[in-house]
Amino acid sequence: MNILITGAGRGLGLELTAEALERGHSVIAGVRHPEKSQTELSKLAEEHGDRLTIAKLEVTDEEGIAALAGELKEQGRTLGAIINNAAILTARNTPIEALDLNDMLTTMDINLYGPMRVVKHFLPLLTEPEPSIINISSEAGSITNAYPGDYPYSISKTAMNMFSQQLHVYLKDRGVHVLSVHPGWMHTDMGGEQAPTDPRTSAKGIIDLIQQRAIPEDRFMFVDYTGKDMKI
Ligand code: NDP
Repeated sequence: MNILITGAGRGLGLELTAEALERGHSVIAGVRHPEKSQTELSKLAEEHGDRLTIAKLEVTDEEGIAALAGELKEQGRTLGAIINNAAILTARNTPIEALDLNDMLTTMDINLYGPMRVVKHFLPLLTEPEPSIINISSEAGSITNAYPGDYPYSISKTAMNMFSQQLHVYLKDRGVHVLSVHPGWMHTDMGGEQAPTDPRTSAKGIIDLIQQRAIPEDRFMFVDYTGKDMKI
């Protein structure tokens, strides 16, 4: 299977890339700055050869995304899964009275419109059997468990869950498996050192979800990386 992963240079994206390659899949690893040294990805490229394609993918740049999709199409590449992983967490713990609304704009642009741009342009390539779209969400997007603070991030993930559900309804007849996945609190740059979950463990769970397609098809699909239901 060919898997497109955004934000693949570090954190969960890097572990998803490594895990998918290890299982024999091919990966198009989207990074913002392929020209800068991507040490970890270069190591994976040495190990896995042409099963790894490192591609420039800035999720706010619709023209760039369209160009990459066009280029891959011309090369005859197809996709079996799209993983929208790239995201930012700004204005952490900031009360509403102090919130800079520019943080809302930037966060929605990356965390919500980014995946929408990616799906818009890469959906035509998602032609392999049993395809999946995985939107990496967060428990922070749960309305039931809402907490004050992290407004931009939480709201972007709640909205992303709606996007996942809309895609699910739109694409179920084509057999596309769409999930919003909470990857756990992971020790990455975003999650910090105290976080209990190894991002590689989360990556394994997410690739399992893609391979097993074990989630029932007819309900809202917000799960954690083990496939357990999350509260909407
Ligand atoms: P990191 O902050 O460690 O990594 C974020 C990744 O997103 C980087 O690869 C970064 O690229 C990329 N990125 C940021 N902005 C853009 C952009 N405009 N275009 C393209 N790529 C971009 O995050 P994690 O690995 O921890 O998080 C991965 C996913 O998991 C996110 O969706 C996050 O919301 C979610 N999540 C994480 C949790 C955690 O505990 N860590 C908990 C719940 C959900 P660059 O290196 O160029 O900056």
